[in-house]
Amino acid sequence: MTRALNFNAGPAALPEEVLLQAKKELLNFNGTGMSIMELSHRSKDYEAVHNGAQTQLRNLLQISDEYEILFIQGGASLQFSMVPMNLLTEGKVGSYVLTGSWSEKALKEAKKVGATSVLASTKDENYKSIPQINVDNLESNAAYLHVTSNNTIYGTQWQSYPDVSVPLIADMSSDILSKSLNINQFGMIYAGAQKNLGPSGVTVVIVKKDLIQASVDHLPTMLNYQTHSQNNSLYNTPPTFAIYLLKLTLDWVENQGGITAIEQKNNEKAKILYDVIDESNGFYSGHANLDSRSNMNVTFTLPDEDSTKEFLTLAKENGFVGLNGHRSVGGCRASIYNAVPVEHVVQLAEFMKNYRQKG
Ligand code: PMP
Repeated sequence: MTRALNFNAGPAALPEEVLLQAKKELLNFNGTGMSIMELSHRSKDYEAVHNGAQTQLRNLLQISDEYEILFIQGGASLQFSMVPMNLLTEGKVGSYVLTGSWSEKALKEAKKVGATSVLASTKDENYKSIPQINVDNLESNAAYLHVTSNNTIYGTQWQSYPDVSVPLIADMSSDILSKSLNINQFGMIYAGAQKNLGPSGVTVVIVKKDLIQASVDHLPTMLNYQTHSQNNSLYNTPPTFAIYLLKLTLDWVENQGGITAIEQKNNEKAKILYDVIDESNGFYSGHANLDSRSNMNVTFTLPDEDSTKEFLTLAKENGFVGLNGHRSVGGCRASIYNAVPVEHVVQLAEFMKNYRQKG
């Protein structure tokens, strides 16, 4: 069976090798005569997967021992609440940069917990770009500065991060593991797994240990980072199958040559699509400003609603999946996460060129 040309925004394409490995081991994991889903989360076999995923992530992203790697459920959306609940203490302000709907949602949750401020926003220009940051405007009593590294809906991405004196916290749900990062710039990073890390069901939280120590103990047990940290993310039953697939995905990234090789391929894939847009004489129009373009989500429109509709219908008929823009912005969006093969991107580029010529 041929695999779909999958450009879904998340849950998204997984590496075929990962799925085949999971299939191979589905009935008998590691000689246990059971699926990984049927093992105790306290068993040696599962423990190796759990700890192995943490170690591999640590190696791939060069995360030092100063940071804890946690697996939490509830999606990135729960982190919108857990971040302020744990870190926005009395007398402090949670500072946010608004670059799209997900940052707005993060801010909305923080407002329920304590004082907040918006350091910068590009809402007025329909989130076409990442704003310039003047760090002098950050409050002296800021608990942290929160950013969304890649804006899945608008197709914009931070190219570099401001150097701030408070912990920088990034929602990296849609670009973690897509390029190298300097972990030391961040107090905390979190990401729902369902784009670059594996399936939905597990959220990876990479957090500096000293931030957790400062965290508050009046919180419900499951909402306190300390609980997850003190119990190696095994306080309760973790999503074992999702963590297993995360581990297989990390194996795959390693086999591809690690982050450097992945980053190169991602640059190549994004360039293929942006070149089609830029060489189309305005037929395809990118939503993001050039200096803020995302390598993960390529967003564009056609000259009018009717042609956008026709393009999407024809694309679907030709086997392309997931090209509709997010329901809140419309247009088209091609999500080209790590697992989307270059050949699929080339096929989409050809389809776009042919559609333009035909029109
Ligand atoms: N942040 C970003 C940048 C996202 O793209 C998404 C999901 N698309 C979320 C947060 C929400 O993630 P979840 O569904 O895992 O709560």
